[in-house]
Amino acid sequence: MSVQTRLERNQKVRLIDGRTVTVIDKLGEGGQGIVYKVRLDNTGKEKALKWYYVSKLNDPKGFYKHLQDNIESGPPSSAFIWPEQLTEWTNNTFGYIMDLYPSGYVGFSKFITARANFASATAMVDAAINIVKAFEALHNKGYNYQDLNDGNFSINPNDGSVLICDNDNVMGHGGYSGILGKSRYMAPEIVRGEKKPDKLTDRFSLAVVLFILFMGDHPLEGKKTNVPALTSKYEKKFFGEEPVFIYDKNNDSNRPIPGLHRNAIARWKYFPSYVKEAFQQSFSKESLLKGDSNSRLLEAMWIHVLMRLKSSLVKCPHCNSDVFIESDRDMSCPDCKNNIHIIGYIKFPKRANINVCIPIYGGAKLYDYHIVPAEKNSSSCAGIVLEKPGKVGLKNLSKLKWTIKAPDGSSATRDTNEVAVLGKGFTIDFGKGIVGEVMSN
Ligand SMILES: [Zn+2]
Repeated sequence: MSVQTRLERNQKVRLIDGRTVTVIDKLGEGGQGIVYKVRLDNTGKEKALKWYYVSKLNDPKGFYKHLQDNIESGPPSSAFIWPEQLTEWTNNTFGYIMDLYPSGYVGFSKFITARANFASATAMVDAAINIVKAFEALHNKGYNYQDLNDGNFSINPNDGSVLICDNDNVMGHGGYSGILGKSRYMAPEIVRGEKKPDKLTDRFSLAVVLFILFMGDHPLEGKKTNVPALTSKYEKKFFGEEPVFIYDKNNDSNRPIPGLHRNAIARWKYFPSYVKEAFQQSFSKESLLKGDSNSRLLEAMWIHVLMRLKSSLVKCPHCNSDVFIESDRDMSCPDCKNNIHIIGYIKFPKRANINVCIPIYGGAKLYDYHIVPAEKNSSSCAGIVLEKPGKVGLKNLSKLKWTIKAPDGSSATRDTNEVAVLGKGFTIDFGKGIVGEVMSN
């Protein structure tokens, strides 16, 4: 059987809906096939065409059917560069078309060891939120990823928008693509051979991706894993049988090595306690060695942790650096080491059993997410904390009318662009059923 593994420039390939595409150029090559830039002959629109090395697929006919099913059910969200249409079987192999990557996106692998940098701390947090939201959409649609790794994402470092590619191996729950994933991203129970990929193992991989995004190093690579060559025996040991989180609370045997894991050492200190705790829980002994589902944060939980982080970005009053501040305690600036005094926070009702709050500190922001129940929009600013000597206020940047109550029973309303002065014990009804409470430290 002769297989045409490579397409020629100007070759025409027929899609199953009868349209044809013309090959323009090769874009890239991977383990499963080659990606070409093509032109749709009916509209002139350019697309990407993935063309398979059919010999690399376990069950080519089954895989073709699997892709067809995914095309029919459609992408989980606009963040996915999803297979759009299959080609006919052509010279004993096949492919599918999808959108081309827009410009401005950088592959996630460049963020590892910090070869790419975000334009701002907000863009970095937004990228994390967008990754989590994409996986929430994927899981809600009944899929799991199976092969989550650094080759799957591209991020716009200017605004944190995220695109997810290589969706060929996305499977419905219970399905199994035969792909085990990259060992550094795989849940340890898969590396140990105890389990096949599912939603729960995806959640482990998601925590790895978030850690790398923030810290620029791998959560399981430290003192213990520092070997000259990472053989498969070592891979199994470090990522499956004896994994230890580099910042494990109770076990310091795998701490990052100065000079080698520079990014993790430099960046860990910039994150507030609740983010560190979320990672310590995700990579706890229970999660790593027992695959404990309670240790792994659900996507919704990550969103609440990350929104808290996003709200807490302010300028250090001493050195003007961007800092993520704590809400319920003082802290020292990670850059200039001076004390940053935090007088209190606005406490919102808990969500998914995660604390929701914003620090009362000049520059801290409130988003629609905080004040509108079930609001998914995490980027529209609804308020900002203003600070003057001896006085703090919350400026209403939303379209809702707020009602502020003082402990003495008096109340006042604040419309768009008006400022509510905050005091201990005050409550703010944001107008849609969510009430925030002013807490002092
Ligand atoms: Zn400072």
